[in-house]
Amino acid sequence: MRIPAREAPLLADADVVVAGGGPAGLAAALAAARDGAATVLCERYGFLGGNLTVASVGTICGLYRTDGPGEFTPVVGGVGHEVVERLSSAGAGLGPVPFKETAVFVYTPWAAKRLADDMVTAEERLDVLFHALVSDVIVGADGLDAVVIATKRGPQAVRARVFVDCTGDADLAAHSGLPTVIGPAGARQHASMQFFMQNVEVEAAVAAMARFPELVAEHGAHLTRDSGAVIPTLRPGEVLGAMTRITNPDGSPIDSTDVRQAAAGELEGRRRAVEAAQFLREWMPGFADAFLSDTATALGIRETRRIEGRYVLTGHDVERGARFPDAVAAGAWPREYHVAGRSTEYRFLDPGVHYEVPYRSLQVPGAPNLLVAGRCISADHDALASLRVMGPSFAVGEAAGIAASRAARSGVPVADVDVEELRADLGSRGALPA
Ligand SMILES: Cc1cc2nc3c(=O)[nH]c(=O)nc-3n(C[C@H](O)[C@H](O)[C@H](O)COP(=O)(O)OP(=O)(O)OC[C@H]3O[C@@H](n4cnc5c(N)ncnc54)[C@H](O)[C@@H]3O)c2cc1C
Repeated sequence: MRIPAREAPLLADADVVVAGGGPAGLAAALAAARDGAATVLCERYGFLGGNLTVASVGTICGLYRTDGPGEFTPVVGGVGHEVVERLSSAGAGLGPVPFKETAVFVYTPWAAKRLADDMVTAEERLDVLFHALVSDVIVGADGLDAVVIATKRGPQAVRARVFVDCTGDADLAAHSGLPTVIGPAGARQHASMQFFMQNVEVEAAVAAMARFPELVAEHGAHLTRDSGAVIPTLRPGEVLGAMTRITNPDGSPIDSTDVRQAAAGELEGRRRAVEAAQFLREWMPGFADAFLSDTATALGIRETRRIEGRYVLTGHDVERGARFPDAVAAGAWPREYHVAGRSTEYRFLDPGVHYEVPYRSLQVPGAPNLLVAGRCISADHDALASLRVMGPSFAVGEAAGIAASRAARSGVPVADVDVEELRADLGSRGALPA
């Protein structure tokens, strides 16, 4: 059906608009505002954090490089580091916690939600719009002119000089008609529904984790994954269940940009969470008196659309620890695949290896005032298997935010931002480890 043309009131006119307030968008908006840009952050939910809070994933990955057994070096600075420090000092975060051949940072999702509130409200130049789904864009002669947000009062426009797409789904790029890709079944990560269990004997549960795959093999043939984890939230008696795989009925990965698949995935996710919680109560030490208190706000989506940028980061780049002259962020998480059957596969980097993300992977040819950050940057399926996690999402978001601020305030296309200056700044924040 044809949607009739209509007028939209101009709600705000900024230097920088950031769409999506997940780890990438939070870092981008804070960095742009701190760099001096009048910034508007548009988020479809009523709080920030993306998968950090929406999906309650429970650990921040990709913050550390493994240099040897038990030796971890931070590879993410700036906002990511600040989040970790502030959660730790509030007793709501802990890390590095060794995990397989690498390490993670464990955190309390509720605390992360409140911390994000505090961080954005402390910034004078940052205007946060909640319940503001970016549903369209207005393209002018010199690139993007405004985003259109869907609100209860109908569509409203938010104009800016530079835009940062941190929607996880490359919504701005897609609405602009720019090239995006989505991997087919077999080359796209599956979704999961996280769930909270209360009244758990946490010490007993953690002590039994090593036996978890064995218990699933013996008693959990009906479960959607043959592994997974229960993750303490650092609150008494509470853990997160990270052990579901949610697919379409034919086993293909859910494409959450399709509302019917998204709806079916949410329903299936809650059903599978109940099933997994029942398994924990029956078979896992520490869960005899536990109960499922809630599922995450929404199904956790690992992979959808991403841009086809000026440089496509590859799995080979990740594996070889690639370096780039225009590097703006670093990553060191293994390539982690939730793809085949019921299993999760990890391909670890060699000790001492981290890779870099070039500024070109944040840019789309033909889009002079758009940058992209987070899990929808220009990367192939194998590179994304590593850089989609939250450590690099914070880092890339921060780089995009500073670059957007500089482009907006000096009136140059994003491709002409002084990369040496950007790198020097990021380096001083610990974002570009040696
Ligand atoms: C089940 C699961 C478990 C995971 N486990 C971990 C883990 O343990 N550790 C880890 O580090 N990573 C984990 N990940 C990966 C990681 O959470 C994400 O890849 C990461 O959050 C990506 O950050 P992002 O900011 O790019 O996107 P997201 O976190 O997806 O955030 C996107 C934000 O944009 C908003 N948004 C989307 N579209 C629009 C729009 N059109 N308008 C306005 N707002 C919009 C969303 O509401 C959201 O707030 C996991 C992912 C899943 C799904």
